[in-house]
Amino acid sequence: MRTFIVAAFVLGVGVATAGAQDARATFTVGTAAAARGQTARGVLKVPAGSDAGYDIAVAVVHGARPGPVLAIVSGAHGTEYASIVAVSRLVDAVDPTQLGGTLILIPLVNVPSFEGMVPHVNPVDNKSMNRYYPGTTGGSQTERASHVITKEVVEKCDHLIDLHGGDLDESLRPYSYWTVTGNQAQDARSRELVLAFGLDHIIISADRPKDPNASRFLENTASTRGKPSFTAEAGHAGTVETDDVEALVHGSMNVMRALKMLPGSYQPVENPVWIERVITVSAEQGGMFYASVKRGTYVDKGTKIGYVTDYLGKTIAESRAPEAGIVTFVRAVPSLRKSDTIATVGVVKR
Ligand SMILES: [Zn+2]
Repeated sequence: MRTFIVAAFVLGVGVATAGAQDARATFTVGTAAAARGQTARGVLKVPAGSDAGYDIAVAVVHGARPGPVLAIVSGAHGTEYASIVAVSRLVDAVDPTQLGGTLILIPLVNVPSFEGMVPHVNPVDNKSMNRYYPGTTGGSQTERASHVITKEVVEKCDHLIDLHGGDLDESLRPYSYWTVTGNQAQDARSRELVLAFGLDHIIISADRPKDPNASRFLENTASTRGKPSFTAEAGHAGTVETDDVEALVHGSMNVMRALKMLPGSYQPVENPVWIERVITVSAEQGGMFYASVKRGTYVDKGTKIGYVTDYLGKTIAESRAPEAGIVTFVRAVPSLRKSDTIATVGVVKR
């Protein structure tokens, strides 16, 4: 009798599911269209305009069960390799038959940067690909690509993670950013996701633009549209170290567990270091730079961060920490022009 009741119950659920229309039987991003329980690969087409168009690779992992839509994007800066490798690995790491909801994965936004090994900008128009959101249809390549990503990825997701790392010239200690929008429910949700991600240093970013039409950053484009989202960084100076890649892959999987997209438990980071302000130390003059601290070093106000010589080895400048804090990244190469960033110092919230 008990067996019969269970069987009837299961049958009932099956009938109910079959009877209801699945509003998302297929999920499409760009040319990638995935049926439930499948992974599809395709591209976002950035149309030609005042300069060339190009394709951005995208994968859609459409879960067998309904659930939230999580977008994970990296490679706005195409030489932040650890983050790019991490997102490319996620494509096959997540089994769509085990997934609830949908993953949109974009490992490499800035293809020209990756191909030409050009840090910081898209070499086609010399613009950072994380500063021109929400983008336009009429601007240069970076602005058109940003527009396509806003329409195809941000507007179709419920949550977004933007992954970065130290660029070719940045020796960076891993950290996440938690954006404070002022909407308490949204901020509590994004805080929960940042803690689930698991990096133990978190920069509180309270000064991001509030206008969705002038959002500038990718994460901010999602946050100003009411979607709890965050940015995380790991990797440094062109390296692809296992610890960095794994931190980003496991962090992303833990966010999927926190969103109940994947089964299994996760351990949110306990007692992270909250950084309330980040101070940029810039070069007062160019030359050859030598760091005196490492990424992650705690410094006092006045601690020597590094020094600059001329091209014949004579010391011409020193830089010192403007406040006590942690070196979130320090310049990784000798090349230094006036106004270049030497280091960033995170002031820890007490
Ligand atoms: Zn970046």
